[in-house]
Amino acid sequence: MIRQYLSVKEKHRDAILLYRLGDFYEMFFDDAREASKALDLTLTSRNKNSDDAVPLCGIPVVAAQNYISRLLSLGHKVAICEQLEDPKFAKGIVKRDVVKVLTPGVVFDPECLSGKENNFLAAVFPDGGGFGLATCDVSTGSFRLSEFENASFLKDEILRLEPREILLHENLKGEGWVEAIRSSLPSLRLNFLGGWHFDADFSRDFYVKFFQADLPVLGLSGRERLSRAGGVLLAYLAEAKILREGLLVRPEIVETSRFMVLDCAAKKNLELVRTQTEGGFDGSLLWLLDRTETSMGSRLLREWLHHPLLDISAIELRLSAVAELKANPELLGSIRGSLISIPDLPRIINRVVAEEGTARDLISLADSSNVIPSLLEALSGVLSPLLSLLRGGLDPLTDIGEKITGTLVDSPPLPLKEGGLIRDGVMAELDCLRDIERNGKSTISAMEASERASTGISSLKIRYNQVFGYTIEVTHTHREKIPSHYIRRQTLSNVERFITPELKEYEDKVLGAGERGRELEYEIFCRLRGEVASAAERVRKTAEALSTLDALTALADLARERNYSRPRIVGEPILEIRKGRHPVVEVLYREEPFVPNDLSINGTDRRLILITGPNMAGKSTVMRQAALITLMAQIGSFVPAEEAVVGIADRIFTRIGASDFLQKGQSTFMVEMLETAAILHQATPKSLILLDEIGRGTSTFDGVAIAWAVCETIHDKIRARTLFATHYHELTDLSATAEGLKNYQMAVAESGGEIRFLRELREGGTNRSYGVQVASMAGLPRETVARAREILKLLEEKDLAFSSSAKKGGDPQPSLFEPDPRTESLLNEIKNLPLDSLTPLEALNFLARIKQDL
Ligand code: ATP
Repeated sequence: MIRQYLSVKEKHRDAILLYRLGDFYEMFFDDAREASKALDLTLTSRNKNSDDAVPLCGIPVVAAQNYISRLLSLGHKVAICEQLEDPKFAKGIVKRDVVKVLTPGVVFDPECLSGKENNFLAAVFPDGGGFGLATCDVSTGSFRLSEFENASFLKDEILRLEPREILLHENLKGEGWVEAIRSSLPSLRLNFLGGWHFDADFSRDFYVKFFQADLPVLGLSGRERLSRAGGVLLAYLAEAKILREGLLVRPEIVETSRFMVLDCAAKKNLELVRTQTEGGFDGSLLWLLDRTETSMGSRLLREWLHHPLLDISAIELRLSAVAELKANPELLGSIRGSLISIPDLPRIINRVVAEEGTARDLISLADSSNVIPSLLEALSGVLSPLLSLLRGGLDPLTDIGEKITGTLVDSPPLPLKEGGLIRDGVMAELDCLRDIERNGKSTISAMEASERASTGISSLKIRYNQVFGYTIEVTHTHREKIPSHYIRRQTLSNVERFITPELKEYEDKVLGAGERGRELEYEIFCRLRGEVASAAERVRKTAEALSTLDALTALADLARERNYSRPRIVGEPILEIRKGRHPVVEVLYREEPFVPNDLSINGTDRRLILITGPNMAGKSTVMRQAALITLMAQIGSFVPAEEAVVGIADRIFTRIGASDFLQKGQSTFMVEMLETAAILHQATPKSLILLDEIGRGTSTFDGVAIAWAVCETIHDKIRARTLFATHYHELTDLSATAEGLKNYQMAVAESGGEIRFLRELREGGTNRSYGVQVASMAGLPRETVARAREILKLLEEKDLAFSSSAKKGGDPQPSLFEPDPRTESLLNEIKNLPLDSLTPLEALNFLARIKQDL
């Protein structure tokens, strides 16, 4: 058996092999070691005490699905090896082979998928300095191509999409950006492929075969990066025997220049889809925004959040739709009420296309076709262009629904080959078989009665026995009355047994009826599934309209409940917010009422807002809320403010707080500087920059110097809208010379050494951080706080002020600590030394004395 195992394993070396042994899937050797750790299974061994003990662990077949999804979610490839014959009849070892290979990026089973997230498989084609990126989700049929000029943008997009599996050229092994992706997405499966996978002709063939279109028709002529990345992906799916016509939509070319760039620092710092502290979904922006009723709507909203728009008219389209829905609670309620009963259509239709769909999948498709008419009705009077467009895109799929409900019973069972799926009346042959099966006995008695009547033999019986099946039994006394068409089968002491062609035919029917009926049901089902599959494009189009409607109504519902307002979107680099709130903090942080704040930034005299103020006062919150309002506006959402004018931002950059990247071989300060460098190199006048605590991870002098210089660079050269929070009060002096810099502070009220946070952003700088007070509030031991106060006083007396000569153009001479008077006198002595008249010996003696003094 082990020899058989090894020969199967040989063909699937990169997968964990689940080897069927009766009611268990067993894993051996390294697979067992790996899986037992990953799945928390007991690792045992065969031949425990011998030298060649075989490590093994197993999972029951009935519970396998759950274990398989866990292996996939950890990035493993899984090969399932089944018994190919019944062990009862096998001679020698039971035949076994792999029947299915699953990888994390190629999954249809709903149990292995999260409804709220796509399950992307990606492929990268490197070309010169640039890259083509292809992504698909076989569970929904999406297939997209995009191109990037450098590895940094490509990496950001991959980290945004968080694919489950990625195909890369083997030459990319060890590249910095590949390693960065690997460490950021630890459960991502990376497959390095040989060069021939990236061959141009090879990929062209796949397009022709599976989309019946050549590259020009698909808009891919001359776009090598795109077409070849897509080709790699298609080849991989074909090799896994997954690809078939209709599984993926024709490739959608995504021009990345249409979207705001959000790098992974921004995604993380703004807590778009998970929080920074716990890494969980709850408390993230998407957690707040996602009020969708369907999984497909939820996935779309996630996509919107990761790809805010740059085109004002596209944003306005969404905003007008949200406005109309928000203003019309009845419409909003009835749309959401209908959406709630719509299942995950893209995933259902793709299971159907992949021949994995069940009868229940078809029934839920039919159920949605019943809901769509009510949505069409609800949307009948809508005015906004996008809502009207969506209404037009809703196909009630009535014909498909009727076909399904006309064929399948209302609640079909899950197994497809055990019957009970198809309605009566769908096919005469099936009805007849069912009739025979159900009424087998009564038909036989009817036949018996009719034979008795026609022969006049009142004792004639129709009996069943294992050897001859159904026979007509006639006692010898009635031998003369036996009709000539009776065929003798057996003569016993008192009876003779006959058959007739009619009885034989009926017998075949009765005995085979059950089995044949089940086969026929499966055939009818497969035919129906095939017919539904051929309408995949219609279903997908409707699903697209429904998910957009869902995402828009979710935004409108939130806007209503939280009293958000419609932002005015403009092209100029401004950001005017009146009474703005942080969308998540105002909901989650309930200990004090949220204090709204105003903010006014423009591209000219208020382009860099320098915020000082105590720890804990709310600097980070006010900065993040500005970024979130911008981002929400650009996805087409209303915003948490009384009024907001948002100038399109091409990128949002963030450098906030300390990130612990120690495990990635970078110190906290190094990461801070890397992020700052990226901002200074990539930001444009249309960007929005958030900088929090620049230069904190190093000595005070270095820190102030870096913060100062970064501030100047952004102000003078980049001229992007910037919010810069700092505890280096020295920087407030910059406002004297930097015409576009304005000082702001987070206000506090102070009495009796205690402070109270007012959470108000006010104009003007401050020169205090109240760090010791905050430390005391946090519960540092009383004596430590008292000592800190003493030291602070000493330091303040020694003039902490950063020399005003550091102002622009001057010579920055920070003097945090005054020199010792003794050093001072020594310095004076050196200064006054008459070098011209000094003999070498005198010089040497002088040097010796200085050394001694020091
Ligand atoms: P530090 O300088 O120590 O990093 P900070 O000034 O950046 O602090 P934040 O982290 O923004 O302070 O805010 C501290 C806490 O104050 C937050 O947990 C938040 O819940 C609360 N807070 C911030 N702004 C407001 C506000 N406008 N209204 C009510 N509570 C607020």
